[in-house]
Amino acid sequence: MDRREVESGRNSPESNQPAAQISRLAIDIGGSLIKMVYFSSGNDNSVDYREEKSPLAVSTALEGKLHFLKFETSKINDCLDFISSRKQLLGGWKHDDHPGSDEKFIKATGGGAYKFTNLFKEKLGITLDKEDEMDCLVTGANFLLKTVQREAFTYMDGHEEFVQIDHNDLYPYLLVNIGSGVSMIKVDGDGKYERVSGTSVGGGTFWGLGRLLTKCKSFDELLELSHRGNNRVLDMLVGDIYGGTDYSKMGLSSTTIASSFGKAISRDKELEDYKPEDISRSLLRLISNNIGQIAYLNALRFGLKRIFFGGFFIRGHAYTMDTISVAVHFWSKGEAKAMFLRHEGFLGALGAFASYEKRNLDGLLSN
Ligand code: ADP
Repeated sequence: MDRREVESGRNSPESNQPAAQISRLAIDIGGSLIKMVYFSSGNDNSVDYREEKSPLAVSTALEGKLHFLKFETSKINDCLDFISSRKQLLGGWKHDDHPGSDEKFIKATGGGAYKFTNLFKEKLGITLDKEDEMDCLVTGANFLLKTVQREAFTYMDGHEEFVQIDHNDLYPYLLVNIGSGVSMIKVDGDGKYERVSGTSVGGGTFWGLGRLLTKCKSFDELLELSHRGNNRVLDMLVGDIYGGTDYSKMGLSSTTIASSFGKAISRDKELEDYKPEDISRSLLRLISNNIGQIAYLNALRFGLKRIFFGGFFIRGHAYTMDTISVAVHFWSKGEAKAMFLRHEGFLGALGAFASYEKRNLDGLLSN
């Protein structure tokens, strides 16, 4: 198969191509966030201020870029306004199955594609053409891993390293998508996968519990708090129990967490004495650790060597990735490594985008 050159960059080479033409848009409407991917062709150097990632420049028969945007699901009207303000996004998309019909549609996935069907119809007059959520996650992950240069990387102790992916040796792998909840999917090929596990303790838990405990106003504020916090204030470490020493017979260092939030029971402190930044840090650690551990156990269960983590919870956030990496390293005794994706939050939206052609993204972009 002809491998497309897809690379990241806000600036495309200057040329005499016609002005930008936006065509085709797909959305993934999740419990917390709406992720949008759209393709603009032509010599488009514009970047919308809402763009979450640098556009991906695509060098194919059709020159252009993929754009990545997100909206909060609770503010879905912002998403509707964005689409209606760009009439090109709505122009001329006819359903392959109903070529004679004038009906306009966009590809959509995630639970919100069902929940908000009527809203899209009433406000924009468009039909949401639904694609299965897991199908889309897997299609999106496979596309990124096979086509986008320097997409996968490891992250440990502040050190990021890109992972070269051998296309002939990609499968099987475990895809761990950390959205509001967490899905763990064993991927054996294009369209070949099984959802083998999951946990309800995910990104929604971090944001929800974090809000309850710190009263912070936004997810970004909660993450920002975690930067400044110290988890040792609240987490009970092995050293706290063993008088500062390791429990070396069991391979547990004095800094290993024995009990997340275990020190909040201290009678020497009032509850108000615990700072929001320390709470946020311990919570992020608890959730990331737990997901890393469950992921590794599932990789072990199916003999999978590679674990890729995606979902908007990660947000390229250093401490989150570091904690997940340490958990996988710790439980696998250094045998396994966590890998992350640069476009981690857009797997589902990319998969929905690819489904326009019921083929893959390469096919779509070469039309
Ligand atoms: P879903 O499809 O369930 O909405 P996502 O992959 O979009 O899942 O991830 C949602 C999670 O991303 C949230 O639960 C939260 O932990 C995290 N997140 C990252 N950025 C934000 C944000 N700006 N607002 C809300 N949640 C965010």
